[in-house]
Amino acid sequence: MISAPALLRDLLRCPSVTPADGGAQAVLIAALEGLGFEVTRLKFGEIENFFAERKGPGRHLCFAGHTDVVPPGEGWSHGPFAGEEQDGVLYGRGAVDMKGGIAAFVAAAARVPGHVSLLITGDEEGEAVDGTVRVLEWMQDARKIPDFCVVGEPTSKARLGDVVKVGRRGSLNAVITMPGRQGHAAYPHLAQNAVHKLVPVLAELVEKKLDDGSEFFEPSSLQITSVDVGNKVTNVIPGEAVAKLNIRFNDLHSGASLTAWVKDVLARHAPDATLAVKVSGESFLTQPGDETGALVRAIESVTGFEPERNTGGGTSDARFIARYCPVAEFGLVGTSMHKVDEAVPVAELAQLADIYAALIREFCR
Ligand SMILES: [Zn+2]
Repeated sequence: MISAPALLRDLLRCPSVTPADGGAQAVLIAALEGLGFEVTRLKFGEIENFFAERKGPGRHLCFAGHTDVVPPGEGWSHGPFAGEEQDGVLYGRGAVDMKGGIAAFVAAAARVPGHVSLLITGDEEGEAVDGTVRVLEWMQDARKIPDFCVVGEPTSKARLGDVVKVGRRGSLNAVITMPGRQGHAAYPHLAQNAVHKLVPVLAELVEKKLDDGSEFFEPSSLQITSVDVGNKVTNVIPGEAVAKLNIRFNDLHSGASLTAWVKDVLARHAPDATLAVKVSGESFLTQPGDETGALVRAIESVTGFEPERNTGGGTSDARFIARYCPVAEFGLVGTSMHKVDEAVPVAELAQLADIYAALIREFCR
């Protein structure tokens, strides 16, 4: 039998800061092979990934997770890679995001039969180029796309089981470079002020109400994140100004529709401006159905209350999985993720394993 806290402790002792693996996946693979999983290692570029599958009764449930972690930074009260427990709390980088979720799922799979698999990547906190995206392509070719996928990100807000994510907003980054003509502030007729050209553009972008939100989504939001001229003096009219913005958008928009809108605003105000856009993820929503229903029932059966279904927060690897099958995200309380002294109470970890076990029971029939 596998205990989630013991497995988590072993995982926390592997310093797997992206792109390093630190031995984390070998720890998992040993545990999974011991449970009868067939493991395929999938190294892409410098990134370690693997797919593990155990055939069994019922529909195919996949658990997706990442073993890589963000750098620990300074000021920890326990070693970030020591895997120490104090007063029933396990400390370490990745305890909640998301080695804890993985350990809980493996412990659950050890207890309950069913057709389950794990998609494990080492590239979630980094560029996410050689991780989940590539493994999914491999799974497609090998005809191993599951009926439902649960991503074990720490989605719970205040207590375990209060929030399930059934989609995510999209994210778009844009850089506007506004040209002008440099000159002396006392002779503006000989210059063209790049800031003066940029201000009305930004005003129009900021004033536009993108939408009022939709059934499962908050309203979309545009934030100007930087306006730079680099002017160190007061008597020079700037010859160039650069603005950066980020749009978090719901299912009423797409990266393409928002890019077209920003282009249109620029074309009307300043056709000579240049625009660079990067869409880091489109929005997605898993429609309510039997898949998320099984997850919600599993949570209720352990916690006694119904989770809220929402789509808040940043992007995650679920955006890639959504192109292939229904996907939802559910895991530990995320308050300490990416922070100093990241930690998980052992009791919460055990309860998460109970919920995942209930999910396998519910779904793999
Ligand atoms: Zn994560």
